[in-house]
Amino acid sequence: MELETAAKASKTQGLRPIDMHVHVVGNGTGGTGCWLRVGRWRQPLAALMLRHVGLSSRAMKSDLDSIYVDRLLEMVRQSSLGAAVILAQDLVHDDSGRPLNGLGSFYVPNNYVLGLAKKHPEFLPAVSIHPARPDALEELERCLEAGAVMMKCLPNCQNINCNDRRFTRFWERMAEAKLPLLAHTGGEHTLPVVKKEYADPRILTLPLDCGVTVIAAHCATKSGIFDPEYFHIFAGMTNRWPNLYGDTSAFNVPMRGRHLRKCVCAPLLDRMVHGSDFPVPVNGHWAWMRGFVDWPTFRKWEKHGNILERDYQLKLAMGFPPETFTRIHGLLRKR
Ligand SMILES: [Zn+2]
Repeated sequence: MELETAAKASKTQGLRPIDMHVHVVGNGTGGTGCWLRVGRWRQPLAALMLRHVGLSSRAMKSDLDSIYVDRLLEMVRQSSLGAAVILAQDLVHDDSGRPLNGLGSFYVPNNYVLGLAKKHPEFLPAVSIHPARPDALEELERCLEAGAVMMKCLPNCQNINCNDRRFTRFWERMAEAKLPLLAHTGGEHTLPVVKKEYADPRILTLPLDCGVTVIAAHCATKSGIFDPEYFHIFAGMTNRWPNLYGDTSAFNVPMRGRHLRKCVCAPLLDRMVHGSDFPVPVNGHWAWMRGFVDWPTFRKWEKHGNILERDYQLKLAMGFPPETFTRIHGLLRKR
């Protein structure tokens, strides 16, 4: 029934749903340039995530890169989605643009996502560039040339003060090229945090003022109980900037989905785009306990092995209309 409704709605618009927040990870096997450094206490979480997407935790020590991409591709193909935006992950840099090699838990080079997207039409490439890098503008041009559709960064984990005036030209160039920015906002517990205060969505003021289309990942919601709450700040900012959006990524983890009621009605609803934060676990328990989905819906999708589809269906059931899943078509840079 849900599938029928969704299929009908997207057909009317002629657009297929997109999951615009999907991580690729790898350990560098096959010369991809990716690396993964999972600290001792995050290892159970990493193993849980792999199991959740149907991979054995042994994959971390074997050919993770191709195993992961094959599985992801299979999931996209077997879902209601037309495509997934796959995210690169730049290194942590200091304020003067030097890479801080000891920090950060994973790295995904821009060339890797750009190459994957060339090979597979199901993938759309989002690159990641720390704007303090001495070669930031050149790298931006190179990625635009190579077909980047979005730029991803995590100000609190990568140490990016987006409001630093030195980055004005970088943001202006992004605005000119119509390359949207997906920026992590709110607390974070899956990755190490370098600058806690950069979780505040007000860190995005300068790119917004420069005219960049900015998508605040997770709508600045809390990840852990003790994180500061920034959701209301994000919501207030949408009144001031028509170019600010929020994504629904990780709304199916315990804390992040709490503000759902405000996200599924005006005025915020028109600013919402769909993302899963794959491979972050998708559990409908929280939505069911909060009364956002009913028991049969929860039971039905909880058993579904494809978490991209599970996340999509749970969000439809929570009340996000089909436009939430297709709005991103109008925001991504056209290749
Ligand atoms: Zn993410």
